[in-house]
Amino acid sequence: MKPPAFDYYRPESISEATSLLKTMDDAKILAGGQSLIPMMNMRLARPQALIDINRIQALTSINDQGESLRVGALVRHCELETNPLVQRYVPLVSQAEGFIGHTAIRSRGTIGGSLAHADPAAELPVLAVLYDWDLIVESADQTRTIPARDFFLSYFITALDPTEILTAIDIPKQNGRGHISEYAIRAGDFALAIAAVSVRLTADNLIDDVRVALGGVADVPWRDPQLEEQWRNQSASPDLWRDIAHVVSERIEPTDDLQASAAYRRQLAETLVYRALQKAYRDPDAGSTMEGSFDR
Ligand SMILES: Cc1cc2nc3c(=O)[nH]c(=O)nc-3n(C[C@H](O)[C@H](O)[C@H](O)COP(=O)(O)OP(=O)(O)OC[C@H]3O[C@@H](n4cnc5c(N)ncnc54)[C@H](O)[C@@H]3O)c2cc1C
Repeated sequence: MKPPAFDYYRPESISEATSLLKTMDDAKILAGGQSLIPMMNMRLARPQALIDINRIQALTSINDQGESLRVGALVRHCELETNPLVQRYVPLVSQAEGFIGHTAIRSRGTIGGSLAHADPAAELPVLAVLYDWDLIVESADQTRTIPARDFFLSYFITALDPTEILTAIDIPKQNGRGHISEYAIRAGDFALAIAAVSVRLTADNLIDDVRVALGGVADVPWRDPQLEEQWRNQSASPDLWRDIAHVVSERIEPTDDLQASAAYRRQLAETLVYRALQKAYRDPDAGSTMEGSFDR
């Protein structure tokens, strides 16, 4: 299949790209093209112009800023999987990358594209909400920072204005144990549900901080920080993980779709949350687990 005709621009700098966006009514940023091009081929997207940001070097770096890593929007999935700074300071990101599509997709797809595309069953948006990433966006007129919890508005809809480019992401360094657990029907498919958790314990084995984020169960990545507060200072144990998993599964409101019923997704979420918490607690080095009806 071929996409409808479009104009094509290839700016060399962020300012050139934002100036182009300012003057156009219906332009789209082209990053890795792994989601946008299939959508154009299927005529689900028909932008009049593509602004290809692949030559903008300023979008490709990963820098240690002390408390966080600043990751350029054009950093590709495969780089996040193998970069030593990412592996050391936000290991859950590099571990989750192994679940994203296939090698060919990871070698082109980008962190900025994944976040801007805002598929609620994608891994990086779930981690963005779990760890409170800050998204830096630029237009010709201003630069602003959007917290991840305010960025995702609905299925494939974000707080990005059409004149803005996502340029970088500030990712706080992991503080505590994390695990991401997901279930997909075939290896490389989008998951039916994703549970990502973070657990920090006191020296007395009490909960100092526990977070649960889910993908594939709502129109945006799901998390409820107020709910998490109620588990602070409780004693860490498998019983507590079961309680958290059950309460979370009752809070979410998945809907039926072609792949799974709402009841199935609720059950899956409960199982994945429990397993992720238990893994983070018992086996903090494991980092990630994927299950499905395939051999791995
Ligand atoms: C077969 C297949 C399987 C896949 N499986 C998974 C999976 O399991 N998990 C997963 O998370 N993803 C999966 N993906 C999607 C993949 O991760 C893509 O890389 C990602 O969704 C989009 O990144 P991209 O760089 O290719 O963006 P593009 O396709 O280039 O762009 C996607 C959208 O984001 C916008 N955009 C891109 N960059 C920016 C920017 N810097 N600022 C503003 N807007 C921007 C574009 O205009 C477009 O609307 C899969 C894709 C395929 C084809």
